[in-house]
Amino acid sequence: MNKLKVLIVNQSLKKKWTLSTAIVIFISYAAICMLTYFALYSWLIQNEENNAIRSMDDLTSFFHSKYFISIEEFQGNTGLLKAIVNQDQTVRIFNYDGYEVLRINDVSPAAPIELSPEQLANAVILKDELDGEDVFIAHRIIQIGGFTGVMQLIHPLSTFQSMMQYVLTAMLIAGVGAMLLAGSISYYLANLLIKPLQDLRDSMISVRDKGFEEKINFSYQADDEIGDLLKIYRVMMEELQSSFLKQQQFVSDASHELRTPIQAIEGHLSLIKRWGKNDPQVLEESINTSLEEVSRIKKMIEELLDLARSEKRDEYASANIDKVLQSLIEEFKIIYSEASIDVDLVGNPINANITENALAQIVRNIVENGIRYNHKTPKIKINVQYLSEKIIMTIADNGIGIGKEHLPHIFDRFYRADASREHKGGGTGLGLSITKMLAEKYNVEIEVKSSEVDGTTFTLMLPL
Ligand code: ADP
Repeated sequence: MNKLKVLIVNQSLKKKWTLSTAIVIFISYAAICMLTYFALYSWLIQNEENNAIRSMDDLTSFFHSKYFISIEEFQGNTGLLKAIVNQDQTVRIFNYDGYEVLRINDVSPAAPIELSPEQLANAVILKDELDGEDVFIAHRIIQIGGFTGVMQLIHPLSTFQSMMQYVLTAMLIAGVGAMLLAGSISYYLANLLIKPLQDLRDSMISVRDKGFEEKINFSYQADDEIGDLLKIYRVMMEELQSSFLKQQQFVSDASHELRTPIQAIEGHLSLIKRWGKNDPQVLEESINTSLEEVSRIKKMIEELLDLARSEKRDEYASANIDKVLQSLIEEFKIIYSEASIDVDLVGNPINANITENALAQIVRNIVENGIRYNHKTPKIKINVQYLSEKIIMTIADNGIGIGKEHLPHIFDRFYRADASREHKGGGTGLGLSITKMLAEKYNVEIEVKSSEVDGTTFTLMLPL
């Protein structure tokens, strides 16, 4: 039993599906057939019995109504009696000594009478076998004129039996046909439904063995549960592939960008080792530059960690914009005392759907760039407009501006326009990538306009 179970479990899904559907259909069909067959059988056999009894009753009433006609007269003319009984029924009338005195039809042989007088007094009907054929045999005491005897009616069941046989054969043929049809339909369906699963398995194997080399495409396009599954898998794989590529790019960019300041520190340390010990100016310069590079590395590592940390979006986040801006202004006053930051709020204040931390970081990166990439006294103008469906915040600086050729790339990781590379205390090229990552997370749209004369304006559209 266990072996059979293991054997069934280990079959392909297609075989299990086809087999189980065929078995279920077969069992249901067999049950319905059996029920129908037995119901039909008992109804028809009852009908046959009723026919036999009816013929007996008709004959009895006929003999009673013709009580003045003697048995001898009936013997001479049985034509009328034949009209009362069915063609295939045979009626015999015996006297008490067992001699046959009258016969209507002669289809079946006579049956022995083995009944007691009490049983004969009432009409008795029995199912029996005569010459290998099933029959109903009915007996009754009968009075014809002055004669009293026993009437025997034999009702053959051959018509009934051949009819039942016909029904059984028809059921069997229909059953085998239905099973074959059900088997082929379920095989076709199993094929249709399992094919996409096989494709899915093949695609998984290909991803496991060759990575994301092959494009994932499925021929199954139906809009059902399996179609959904394939769609989810494809989207998931595309996301995985893109994050895998991003990660690869990130690792190579990060190691490249970290190598530059480390090489600079290495250079300065060898300079100190060779001449710096005796030359206080070289020593001072090299230590200062090395310290700057170290703080750049530190900043880069912090920003890299910020980017790598992919916290989940807080759907119910709410940020008080004025509060965030005021605390940022306090922060900037200490670091960039020369810069001036003006804030203008228009409309009824309402909170934005973003965490205060994320908003602060987005604005901090933009404002800091405006101050750093600036040859004049930095002036930052922040304008916040509270609209009914969103909040629009513009951050404008009077800085050096961004060249048209750089504008499409400023949100890329490690991207720095040439002009800013020469800037003292230059950045890491990660600030705006972090801004973009946070903005995407909280559905904040960002637009940038820049002119190398008037400076740069960032426009943020914040959801409510
Ligand atoms: P960084 O750490 O170098 O500032 P960001 O990602 O913040 O990195 O900015 C990318 C580049 O975009 C900067 O290096 C700079 O060239 C340019 N940039 C960004 N904001 C401004 C701005 N307000 N004015 C001029 N250039 C800017």
